Amino acid sequence: MTTHTRPTGRGTGMHHRHIYLDGAWTASTGRCVIDVVEPATEQVIGSAPGGTPEDVDAAVRAARRAFAGWAETPAGERAAYLRRIAEGIERRAPDLAELIAREVGTPIGFARLAQVGLAALAFRTAADVGEAYPYEQPQGPSLLIREPFGVVGAITPWNYPLFQVAAKAAYALVVGNTVVIKPSEAAPLSVFVLAEIMDEAGLPAGVVNLVSGTGPVAGQALATHPDVDFVSFTGSTAVGRTITRAAADTVKRVALELGGKSPTVLLADADVADVVPRAVAAAFVNNGQTCCALTRLVVPRSRKGEVERAAAKAAESTQVGHPLLPGTQLGPLVSAGQRDRVLRHVRRALGQGATLITGGAEPPEDQPYGYYVRPTVLSDVTTAMDVQHEEVFGPVLVIECYEDDVEDDADAEAVALANATPYGLAAAVWSADPDRALAVARRIRAGQVEVNGGGFNPRAPFGGYRQSGNGREHGVFGLEEFLEVKSVQL
Ligand code: NAD
Repeated sequence: MTTHTRPTGRGTGMHHRHIYLDGAWTASTGRCVIDVVEPATEQVIGSAPGGTPEDVDAAVRAARRAFAGWAETPAGERAAYLRRIAEGIERRAPDLAELIAREVGTPIGFARLAQVGLAALAFRTAADVGEAYPYEQPQGPSLLIREPFGVVGAITPWNYPLFQVAAKAAYALVVGNTVVIKPSEAAPLSVFVLAEIMDEAGLPAGVVNLVSGTGPVAGQALATHPDVDFVSFTGSTAVGRTITRAAADTVKRVALELGGKSPTVLLADADVADVVPRAVAAAFVNNGQTCCALTRLVVPRSRKGEVERAAAKAAESTQVGHPLLPGTQLGPLVSAGQRDRVLRHVRRALGQGATLITGGAEPPEDQPYGYYVRPTVLSDVTTAMDVQHEEVFGPVLVIECYEDDVEDDADAEAVALANATPYGLAAAVWSADPDRALAVARRIRAGQVEVNGGGFNPRAPFGGYRQSGNGREHGVFGLEEFLEVKSVQL
């Protein structure tokens, strides 16, 4: 089902000309300005400076100057700043949600809940975890001291533009690091609002700095800067590799939160009518542009027909439309490039033998403009096809079958197929028997596994196995990521 897109007719007052350096809004040293295009209307709605290596250097120097004072600030005081930032996000939540709905295409309800709500929650949770954390502990005759690295460079993607920055900045800051943020050039606008909120919260100058710009210029400058101690990166696996190489000369610490191709595993006793609509919704979350989206439905072959019918029904009842319309469940993709990439994946999958259950590579009816893609389900997908193991990053769910007509352990077949990609970010397992589902969850090689719909926990570590990355964000593990360990022998 689709609804007509409707341009908002709002003004274009989101053109930023300054970056946030050393506690002040400062002109970039570059002349380049990067436009931000609204995916629902294909119109420019804002812009941000294309920061230069000189801008990055000034930001890093400011962060370095601020480091000693911030690191010595008691953890409780640092936590209080974070709580003020959370309050600031909550105060401006309606504006932030609308901004992200416009710059990313996220449906407004989900933008409020996840894009903005989770960002505020990350600051609050980091404040609580950071305040309670034991930074010094005896170990035998030694004293273990955990202390901040110094200057952290945070390089983030466009899909959750505020939350991804929050996940890094909140935990880096609460333990005493100072931060230089390089947001995605595709969706930087909400991060400018965050910098305003941080400024209003009274953070000391230089503790947080914002340099917008492109990856190969501003991002690269941050990754190679000799006075950056730690680069925390969230984005694609390909860029994660580039950053790791760029950071190698200065032997800085690099944490990578990368892509995924995560499975929903349906065990033979699961309730198809209940699970499949949830699995479809989980694949299409944020228009399918979620690193941990569950984009593969791994099912017993004996239930294939039933699953295909339920998946078609769920996908076809997904409300496609303008992200600011309240009933919308699926908005446009972030850019024309991203839409075209997704459509290429769909065409290639069909060319390699996948069966189209619903959706496809034609533009959706009733959407005369905007970067929309039909909610798409492909079946008969095998490990020989690219779409089985390549991240699509759009509303495309693939159905893969494991053999359940086996003498031995059919769940072992399910596990083998679930693990048959180079990624390992997330997974879900469904069974009528919770113990059976948990046993399968233990065998899945992924950083986060939901059992029978287990919900989001802001303190649970999040991160990837294998080519999904090497870091953990959130909770105590996310906090410890930003701490060096010193052992003092007494
Ligand atoms: P991307 O890798 O293209 O860009 C991410 C960031 O890296 C941007 O800020 C970009 O400017 C910067 N960048 C690009 N080239 C660079 C370079 N050479 N040097 C330094 N920085 C550079 O990713 P994207 O398209 O913005 O985001 C989508 C990807 O992010 C998907 O693969 C998704 O799975 C992943 N992601 C992962 C997580 C996670 O927690 N694991 C969360 C969200 C998104």
